[in-house]
Amino acid sequence: MPWNPIKGCKTRSEGCRHCWANTRAKTLQERGDPKYRNGFKLEVFEYPFHFDFEKLPPTRIFAGSMTDFFQDEIPEEYIIRVFYVILSNPKHLFLISTKFVERMHAMSSRLPWPVNLLMVVTVEHEKYKYRIDLLRDTGAHHKAIFFEPLLSDMGEVNLEGIGWAFVGGESGPGFRAVQESWIRNLKSECDRQGCEFIFKQWGGHPRESIDARLDGRYYGRIPGVEIIQGDNSEAFT
Ligand code: SF4
Repeated sequence: MPWNPIKGCKTRSEGCRHCWANTRAKTLQERGDPKYRNGFKLEVFEYPFHFDFEKLPPTRIFAGSMTDFFQDEIPEEYIIRVFYVILSNPKHLFLISTKFVERMHAMSSRLPWPVNLLMVVTVEHEKYKYRIDLLRDTGAHHKAIFFEPLLSDMGEVNLEGIGWAFVGGESGPGFRAVQESWIRNLKSECDRQGCEFIFKQWGGHPRESIDARLDGRYYGRIPGVEIIQGDNSEAFT
């Protein structure tokens, strides 16, 4: 499920051209959703911050699916508060993804990294592979890469310490077509290095025509609450 105490973002890199969250915000604005009165403009909301996660069974929660928590406009204290919400709800697996990887890396030693957080960075083009090194150098307990929308061949990729690679082509009007060889290269890099390869989709348009199979089969087990190990007591000290 999504959890969005903040919504809105700004363009960061090439994968943002057809930002899913921006498109979704426009749709919600057109439907009259009061939270999206100002479209995709950055706004902070108090209510979802205090959502009662305790009432839910163990769940995978995408924190900030309509924003990027590490964009410059969001104060560091706020990001730390988000991490404390995650620490305080250890039965759920939270997922945060970012393209503002330099800031996340710079803050790493000051962040109370929860054992129930899957930290994801997006690497949509070969020129952003350095983001993987920055993620590896943080205190995150579980690390994954979004290779989507995949816009180039990745060549050799160091996946040491990375548990999961989500791979997919771009979809929607104006999509930039993915090459089969780019996907196969990432699959073989994952297989070689013991990283779980999760194939999301070929991409394309319209949505109904999009296939999510490679060689006739579906790939990948999306991580769930079963990956949580240990407790958060160290992060609280
Ligand atoms: S960083 Fe993410 S949320 Fe922000 S504009 Fe780019 S794709 Fe959208």
